[in-house]
Amino acid sequence: MLTAIVGINWGDEGKGRMVDLLSENEDIVVRYQGGNNAGHTVVNPQGKFILNLLPSGILRPGVVNVMGNGMVIDLEHLCKEMDRLREGGVSITPENLKISDRATICLPYHVLQDGLEEDRLGDAKYGSTRRGIAPVYGDKYLKKTIRMGDLLHPELLEGRLEHIIDWKNLMIHDAYKASEIQMKEVLTWLKQYGEPLRDYICDTGRYLSQAADNDSRVLFEAQLGALRDIDLGIYPYTSSSSTVAAYAPIGAGIPGYQLDNVIGIMKAYSTCVGEGPFTAELFGQEAQSLREAGGEYGAATGRPRRVGGFDLVASRYGVEVQGADELALTKLDVLSYLDRIPVCVAYEVEGRRVEEFPVGHDLEAAKPIYEYREGWHCDISKCREFIELPLAAQNYIKYLEESVGCPITYISVGAQREAYIMR
Ligand code: GDP
Ligand code: MG
Repeated sequence: MLTAIVGINWGDEGKGRMVDLLSENEDIVVRYQGGNNAGHTVVNPQGKFILNLLPSGILRPGVVNVMGNGMVIDLEHLCKEMDRLREGGVSITPENLKISDRATICLPYHVLQDGLEEDRLGDAKYGSTRRGIAPVYGDKYLKKTIRMGDLLHPELLEGRLEHIIDWKNLMIHDAYKASEIQMKEVLTWLKQYGEPLRDYICDTGRYLSQAADNDSRVLFEAQLGALRDIDLGIYPYTSSSSTVAAYAPIGAGIPGYQLDNVIGIMKAYSTCVGEGPFTAELFGQEAQSLREAGGEYGAATGRPRRVGGFDLVASRYGVEVQGADELALTKLDVLSYLDRIPVCVAYEVEGRRVEEFPVGHDLEAAKPIYEYREGWHCDISKCREFIELPLAAQNYIKYLEESVGCPITYISVGAQREAYIMR
């Protein structure tokens, strides 16, 4: 049974929280794209954890976690994240963590380049997390990176890196005028942070295809959401990887296998970190109240998130491109303070009403058309059955699922593992 858990919106929908919950019955959890620009927060009986690189199944004893070939991995960040989790009592061994030998290594100069370019852009910046993700994916497609498997042959690294570093200095040193990248420093870094990871590196594609053949239960954990997908999202304000479910088998190294189920994680309102068109955005006091109620500050960066009402246009599109079979609606409890709930039901583009998610110029020009739904104005965080929810909350859920055309089967009413309703 192969299931993907993916974001319907702009990310931060609560994927980590849902993976933590749903991994109870899984054998394997796989991260198949992205890097440490992800921030998945999990609150469970062991404590509160923020995961950037490690799959959220790492918190479940007995679950095997895989970092797939589609990922980009900052070794230093990974070593520190593993240390941090171990301090929190989490056991991480080659038994419960396997890293693809084909995953790409994100080097310190990728992080440097990310910052140099954002600074050069000034006001036109992309809103990057400055963790090197765009430069390293760019280099991957230029075929000028090294991969995790290269760490198993350290004697070959220098030869492989020689031309890459010469080439990279054309940009870092000659163009941006930053200090030259030194081979010795890169090798030292690779040794320091690569050595501790050696035992975790293997052919994860083969491991996963054998698991799939043996009817293991595998969960694919996506990072970010549909609207940040490099092909289908709000380009160029997207991430640099494919965040859609269809990429899961590729990023996991098992492209011949089909997903049995796609669970879309959809937030009861909208948030967006970074730049780019965000049509449903609210401002002023209305925005500040929602941001505070939802604790909307980035898990990876601490940046205040932009917020808005639920966006029907964007979410319907998100459901479509994810090919979602069912949805988990998260953070419904956050809306409890409102008398009436704002919903962006359509866009206005140059005087036209638009209900299909637009692209490019039309998206940039789009203005929100807001309507209001009845609020429930009481604490719902203790509800564990659909019928315990106030009628207005039940109606809001039914209205959303009808509008986006996909059933909502889970409703999350709190950050804690058990704070949810299954329908
Ligand atoms: P992810 O990147 O999709 O995993 O989401 P994040 O972890 O970045 O953001 C979701 C935040 O909301 C985290 O701080 C979660 O602990 C929290 N959270 C998740 N589900 C709920 C919920 O139903 N209610 C509330 N109040 N918080 C939630
Ligand atoms: Mg996040």
